[in-house]
Parts: sequence; structure tokens; C-alpha cells
Amino acid sequence: MTYHNTIQISKLNLSNFFYGEGDDVLDTVNSFNEWWEKAYREGYYLFQETLTTAPESVVQVRSNKNGDTHELINFSSYNYLGMSTLQEVKDAVANAIYKYGLGSCGGPILSGIFDVHKELTDSLARFKKQEACTLFPSGYAANVGFISGIMRPGDHIFLDQYSHASIVDGASLSKAEIKYFRHNNPQDLAKKLKDVKGKKLVIVEGLYSMDGDICPLPEIIEVSKRYGARILIDEAHSSFIFGDNGGGIVEHFGVVEEVDFHMGTFSKALGGIGGYICGSHALIHYLDAYSRSRFFSCTLPPAVIVGILTSLKLIQEKPEIRKKLWSNVNYMHHLFKEQGINIGNSVSQILPVMLNDDVKAFAIAEKIREAGVFLQPATYPGVPKGKSRLRVSVSANHSKQEIEKSVQVIHQTLDQYGIL
Ligand code: PMP
Repeated sequence: MTYHNTIQISKLNLSNFFYGEGDDVLDTVNSFNEWWEKAYREGYYLFQETLTTAPESVVQVRSNKNGDTHELINFSSYNYLGMSTLQEVKDAVANAIYKYGLGSCGGPILSGIFDVHKELTDSLARFKKQEACTLFPSGYAANVGFISGIMRPGDHIFLDQYSHASIVDGASLSKAEIKYFRHNNPQDLAKKLKDVKGKKLVIVEGLYSMDGDICPLPEIIEVSKRYGARILIDEAHSSFIFGDNGGGIVEHFGVVEEVDFHMGTFSKALGGIGGYICGSHALIHYLDAYSRSRFFSCTLPPAVIVGILTSLKLIQEKPEIRKKLWSNVNYMHHLFKEQGINIGNSVSQILPVMLNDDVKAFAIAEKIREAGVFLQPATYPGVPKGKSRLRVSVSANHSKQEIEKSVQVIHQTLDQYGIL
């Protein structure tokens, strides 16, 4: 791919094909496809590549470009604590498959939940220091099911401008009034909350997944309480990682009791799949009756739940795993800073290597991949225009050498493209 070609594909992006001319539904599809065929060859092929091994720190990746398979250092996985591939977790899941079979084969209301689901909701509520917990098929479904399950037309929802799609979709589905406040800006939130009457819900993320920065939770709580708003925190990337015991950003700031609703996912630090909401008994009873994404969808497979129970037990018994992650995070932050690489306001295991150049992003990502590192560009509409970046996710599984080699590859490539 040449630099010249990337200029061509960068003129258009996914946002140009949301609407399409013509009276046939497929008119939109066809005009998108004309662009996509070219864009795919010239850079978009880097997305959705095929892994042929487990999401460890090194993976085999089959290229979408030419079908060749390469061994790459993996900085694109949410397997932050290495739980997905830990022997104890794999053994527990394998045994559970023999007991329970592949799936749960039905939704919770009519087909029932399994003993292990009950065990997990009890354990998680205890871990998050809440009265109760309920499970969803994914983190996405948890946000959609919670927000649309509890908010109604005429109510008010206040969202950080960088909110995850699942939060935005849940809020839209509820048909409540949505207002956005500036990212991590409690003063702007106060302006938006002022003078609004009725039911109000403020939603923040503990750790923002495109920037790796954390929310100023104590200030958000102060402002929300001042105006009588309830708070939902999405701890998809921060639970099991932040806080002395892994309790998340609420534990990090010592404000567990001041947040009303706690959302998280099993697909990241715990290495599985599924979402949860923790809160009061009354809240969970209500959600179990009104969260459509929970009860109109199949219950999570019992064997997956056993894997998650094992992960949850291990992270409590072995805090050294979290310590190893933080040691890797600190080392990588240190190396990037030493090399003069801009990682924005990151304070976490997510390090955005800021390119701020939508044209060069694909070419840079391709070069880095050729040099042996699995890392994709994040471009508009995933991030704001002109804010393209490479999003590095560090894991407890990475060795010092893997971190050093990747920082070196990133540094050399950025230098070559005049980004430093
Ligand atoms: N919330 C946030 C902040 C996320 O980043 C994600 C996933 N990237 C989700 C929710 C959805 O979680 P899941 O992938 O488990 O559905």
C-alpha cells in the first residue's frame, strides 16, 4: 500500500454510507460496496483478521490481504489478566461442558437459569459490595437492557460525549431525553443538569476505552447528587483491574456506596463473555422483570459461567496477577514516554498511540504489522476526525521483551512517517 492510495480511501469512510440514494434497500448496500472493495484492499483489510490460536501474548494471524499466516505479538486483546487461557480456567470449563453440555438452550424466564448462574450473581454481588446482581448475554446487552429497562420517555439521561455505543443505544431505545456533556467535565455536566426536572440518570465509564483515561468520579458524584440525579457507572475496562482488591474505579476512589448502579462485562479482565448489573435487591427485581435484552435472549452457557466463576475466584486469591499487569502497564508507559511517543491522558492498560493523522493511520498500522506486532488503527467514526490512533492493550501475560520489541517497532514506524 502506498501513501498515495491511503489518501484516496481516506476521502470517504463508513459515515458516508449510512444513508443512500434510490428506492431499493440494496441501493445503499451497493454504493457502499463500490467504495468498500477498494478501501478493503487499501487498508480496511486490517480489521477483522482471522486468529488461528488462543488470545495469548503471541498469536497466529491469517492475513486478509494474502492468506499468509504470521506469528505476531498481540497488543489487541482484552485478555488483560490472561484469564481466558489460564490452565485452571480451561480445566474448569472443560469439566463443566461434560456436566452441562454446550448451551443453556433457552431464556431465563421459561427455560430457567442454572445453579452456577446463581452462584456467580451471589459471588459478584459480594465482590462488588452490592446487595444483588443480574446477568446479561454480553456487556452490550447489559447497558442496553439496564438503560432501556429503567428509563422512560420524558425522563432525562446525561451522557459523556465519549460514551460507548452500548450506552448510546440503550439511551436511544429508552426514548428518554438525551443530553451530552463534555468528556470528563463535571462543570459541563452541572450546566446540563441545572433546571432539569424529573427523573435524571448520569452515565459514566470508569475507564474510557479509546483514551485509557479514568473518569473524575468524586466530582461527577458531587454534581449528580447536587441535582438529584442517579449514577450508572460502566466498569467494562476497570473492574477487576483498578482498586486495591480489583473492585474497580469505585473502589479506587473509595466511593462504592455513592454510586447507584454498577455495570460490567466478563469479556475483558475475566476472559469470557457476558455482562452484569449490580445494585440493590429492589433494582435487580425490577430489571429481571423489565430488561428485555436479558429475558428475550438465551441465558449464558453454564460452562462459560463456570469459567468466569473460576476467573473471579483466582483474581481474588492471586492478587499477584493484577500486580503483574500493573508492572507491565507502568513499564510500557515509561518506555513510551522515554521515546517521546504521545499516549494522550492514559493512566491505564489501554494506551492510545496518538497519530492524529487519518491519512497515514492505515499505512502506519500495516508497517507495524509487517514488523511483527498485531495492532489496528482506530479511525473515524470510532474516534473523532483527525484523532486517529493505535490502541495498545497491555496484558499481564506480556513479557518484558515483547513490550520492548513492540515499543521499538512503534517508535521506528512513527519516526519513519514523521509522527514523532
Ligand atoms: N462498555 C464499554 C465501555 C465497552 O468498551 C464495551 C466493549 N468494548 C462494552 C460496554 C460491551 O461489552 P461486551 O463486549 O462484553 O459486550
